Amino acid sequence: MADLFVAQVTPPESFTEPAYWFIFQGTQLLVRREEGRASVPALLDPGEIGLQPVRRQYLGMLDGRHCFSAECAAEVPAPEGVSWSGLRALFGLFDDMSFALAGRAVQIMDWDRTHQFCGACGTPTVSKPSERARQCPNCNLTQYPRIAPAVMALVRKGDELLLARSPHFVPGMHSALAGFVEPGESLEQCLHREVREEVGIEVNNLTYFSSQPWPFPHSLMIAFNCDYAGGEITPDRSEIEAAGWFDLDHLPILPNKISIARRLIDATIASIRSGATAGR
Ligand SMILES: [Zn+2]
Repeated sequence: MADLFVAQVTPPESFTEPAYWFIFQGTQLLVRREEGRASVPALLDPGEIGLQPVRRQYLGMLDGRHCFSAECAAEVPAPEGVSWSGLRALFGLFDDMSFALAGRAVQIMDWDRTHQFCGACGTPTVSKPSERARQCPNCNLTQYPRIAPAVMALVRKGDELLLARSPHFVPGMHSALAGFVEPGESLEQCLHREVREEVGIEVNNLTYFSSQPWPFPHSLMIAFNCDYAGGEITPDRSEIEAAGWFDLDHLPILPNKISIARRLIDATIASIRSGATAGR
């Protein structure tokens, strides 16, 4: 798959070229694996491989092909030649566009599944024709896919980085700090609060790095660099198991390259290295 995806909501009335189908069972995606690569099936309809999805959603066009997500009932066996796979396991097997689309697909599929009824009055909802929304025909409440913004902060002090680990990380792994934005809070306020709460220090010089949709389950991670401005590291033991300053010669195990955390850390390491070289 190449790089031109156009998101759309209204499915075509008919089509003659096979479409890309992102078919899920829970959060497991149906893929064909061959020679270290994975792909989603190209079909006119999932019925071709014997599947009858409970629900289906139109995603848009990729390189002139229609794309759909769909949800299969639990315990439906994978048809021959394809298998159910967790999304994280597909990193490196999928090209970047397929991986991003799979993340989009799982969130839309799961949002559709969990918004079949009005959250206010319990009436079955209907799909709005022109936008990604479900509406209640009784009280008109409109429900959109949810995205939870989260802020990530990599704190730098000279040539050292503040890296921390939460109890659920794999053993030895440390990463940048991160936390969800609260209602009414700006990204900057969130960053200061999270750093203060998690490790008890103050930071300044916030600079935006990049962002990454993170479909586990529906976050948008917004990453920043910042500088240490004062205080002693005092981990909040409920969220942070360990935290400390690391120089480049004594780095701990870092997150997988799939994550924006790793890109943020790698970019900062590169910047420290080039600064160090230039200064000598
Ligand atoms: Zn309602």
